[in-house]
Amino acid sequence: MKPILLNPGPVTLSERVRRALLSPDLCHREPEFGALQESVRAGLTAVYGLDPGRWSAVLLAGSGTSAVEAMVASLVPRGGALLAVENGVYGERLSAIARAHGIPARALRRAWGERVEPGALADALDGAPDTTHVALVHHETTTGRLNDLAALSSVCRERGVALLIDGVSSFGGEALDLEGWGASAVAATANKCLHGVPGVAFVLARSDALEVCADAPRSVVLDLAAHARAQAAGSTAFTAPVHVLYALDEALRELAEQGGWSQRHARYARLSATVRAALVELGVEPLLAAAESSVVLGAYRLPAGVRYDELHDGLKRLGFVIYAGQGALAREIFRVSTMGAIEDSDVERLVAALGERLGSRGASAPRRTD
Ligand SMILES: *Cc1c(COP(=O)(O)O)cnc(C)c1O
Repeated sequence: MKPILLNPGPVTLSERVRRALLSPDLCHREPEFGALQESVRAGLTAVYGLDPGRWSAVLLAGSGTSAVEAMVASLVPRGGALLAVENGVYGERLSAIARAHGIPARALRRAWGERVEPGALADALDGAPDTTHVALVHHETTTGRLNDLAALSSVCRERGVALLIDGVSSFGGEALDLEGWGASAVAATANKCLHGVPGVAFVLARSDALEVCADAPRSVVLDLAAHARAQAAGSTAFTAPVHVLYALDEALRELAEQGGWSQRHARYARLSATVRAALVELGVEPLLAAAESSVVLGAYRLPAGVRYDELHDGLKRLGFVIYAGQGALAREIFRVSTMGAIEDSDVERLVAALGERLGSRGASAPRRTD
C-alpha cells in the first residue's frame, strides 16, 4: 500500500500528477517549454482569481524557502526597512533571511503558537516609522496557527507599509484575499496545498512591486525582477525544473477541476475535523482551538507517557507518516496534516491506526508486540 504522508509537504501525490513526471524530455530553450511555463504561471495567478495585468507569478527552482528568500531579498529595496512578525519557525526564518542579506530589520516576537494582536503590530510600526515592509507568515506551520491576515494587513495598509506574505503552507488551501489585504507579494511552493512535486516554488507579486525592486539585486539566483523579466518574455533565466513543472501544471489543472481552492479548503476542513475528533476521543489535546488553527495542519500534545518516535514508528508501520514538533516543541507535540491526495478511506484507516496506537494507553488491554 502507498504510504500516506501526513507531514506538511511533500504530499501524497495523485496518480495523474505522478504520471505527468513521465512527460517527454524537454529543453528549457524550446518553445514547448515556454508554453508549459506560461500555463503554470497563468494557473498560479488564476488560483485566487488575480488579474494577470496586475499580478505576476514568478517561478523559482528550489524549495519554499527560496521563494520566501527571493521575495524578501528582492522586494525590500535598498534604503527600505523590514518588520518581521515571528510566532514560529517560519516567522523567525524571515528575520534570518533579512539578516543574511543585510536588510535592516526589526522583529515583533511572540512565543511559538501565540496569537499576534493587531494592536501589537500597530505599536511596533508606530515605534519604528522608518519601516517600509512587513513580512509575516499566513499559516505558521510550526503550530498550525493561522495568523489573522485580515486584521494584520489593515494595520499595514493604514500606515502605507508594504506587506510580504509567506503563504507557503496556505496557498491553495486557505482563503487568501491578496487584493483586499493590499499585499505586495506572497511566496509559496508546488508541493504543499497545490499537491505538486517538490522542486519549484514561486512568488506571486504585484507588478508595481516588482518594478521597484529592479535596482541593485542582493542575489543573482534569487533576483526576482530578473526572473520576472525572463519569464514575461517566455524565457527562463536559468535551467528550469522541467519535469517538476509538468507535474505542477497537472496539479493546477486537477485543483481547478476539483473546484479550486475553496473546495480544497472544504475538503481539508472535513478531514482535519475527523482527525481532531478522533484524537480528542482518545484523550489527546489539540495545541490550539479549532478556530485558531488552519485546516491544513493540526498540532496535538503528546499524551503523557507517549514518546514521539514510538508513535511515529508505530503509525509508519501501519502506512502513515506523521510529523514531529520543531525545536522545544519536539518533545511536546506531534503534527498531522491532511494535505495531498488522501482519500476518505485513508482517513478512516488513519483513525483506526490512531486508536490502535493510542487507544489502550494505561488500560489493561493487551499490548501489541509488533
Ligand atoms: C514549508 C514551509 C516553508 C518552506 O519550507 P521548505 O522546506 O523550504 O520548502 C516556508 N514557510 C512555511 C510557513 C512552510 O510551511
